[in-house]
Amino acid sequence: MPRPIQAQIHLTALSHNLSVVKQRAPNAKIWAVVKANAYGHSVAHVYPGLKKADGFALLDLAEAALLRQLGWQGPILLLEGIFTPSDLAVVEHLKLTIVVHSEEQLRLLEQTPLTYPIAVYLKMNSGMNRLGFKPPHYFAAWQRLRALAWVNEITLMTHFSEANNADKVVRQINIFKEASENISAPHSMANSAAILWQPQTHADWVRPGIILYGASPNGISHEVNEHNLQPSMTLSSEIIATQVIQAKETIGYNGRFTASHKMRIGVVACGYADGYPRHAPDGTPVLVNGILTQLVGCVSMDMLCVDITSISGAIVGSTVELWGAQLLIDDVAKACGTIGYELMCARTPRVPIIAR
Ligand SMILES: *Cc1c(COP(=O)(O)O)cnc(C)c1O
Repeated sequence: MPRPIQAQIHLTALSHNLSVVKQRAPNAKIWAVVKANAYGHSVAHVYPGLKKADGFALLDLAEAALLRQLGWQGPILLLEGIFTPSDLAVVEHLKLTIVVHSEEQLRLLEQTPLTYPIAVYLKMNSGMNRLGFKPPHYFAAWQRLRALAWVNEITLMTHFSEANNADKVVRQINIFKEASENISAPHSMANSAAILWQPQTHADWVRPGIILYGASPNGISHEVNEHNLQPSMTLSSEIIATQVIQAKETIGYNGRFTASHKMRIGVVACGYADGYPRHAPDGTPVLVNGILTQLVGCVSMDMLCVDITSISGAIVGSTVELWGAQLLIDDVAKACGTIGYELMCARTPRVPIIAR
């Protein structure tokens, strides 16, 4: 029998969350962001739940090819564009839309005539200071793109650095609009946070990622219920051994946790080699048989330990939810000092996926 750990992907949650985005941004088309193997869910497994999106956005050519294999004929957006001239042949073959965010990428595109025209997202750096043309250079970049016979539609794009701060968002929108005021083209700005909290950013195409997976963009778990989102991944496993320890005994490597009283401990088949964070502290929430309890001791490669002293029904074979439908990933992430994004992306390939 394989180890009992698995990641369940909830297809109805994915399609539900997509419909929430549609309600929030009724006039925009939706890029379902499935980069990083669909935030750890696997592109192939989320596809049936998200195929009512208007397009898929990602980074990897291999993931784009997989979507085509799965039968997706609509738009696919490469969020970081191309890296080498040979990428353009794949872009053309798979009919991908590419972001152009730098002088280097623009030159590559100029130097590589294509047989079939492609669509381009021209990215502006309006304050994030990561990717994109600075506002003074934006219009000239657009003119150079427009001059290429192998570029058809050009969409104007930018990305927010603090989408839950209305003032910062307004500042970036103003920079974006001002530097593109002489260009008539579709616009795309909003990630999940902007979709939820800044309706003035919705424009022509929105780009939700994390909310499709039922987690909060700002890591505050009550937002998930407030916005009627449903978690799309449940990471679960089982207790594979139990121990009874006396006061002053320790658990696991380095003896990080010392019992203050007699305790019953459940050993769970889930460790950092599955993607569970090794830095999770004592007290990180875990569900055993649906009952809330806590991590105790250092997470090891293949196992972690939980306190089952007060869960009398907990035995070898009992179900453990690490995060998911009943234990929000944002609450686990908060205990670990990170965000739900990082936890879901960290699922490793040895954790099998069951989609239903
Ligand atoms: C990842 C990404 C998104 C989605 O971000 P979420 O916060 O998960 O909604 C949107 N746009 C760009 C450019 C991205 O890289």
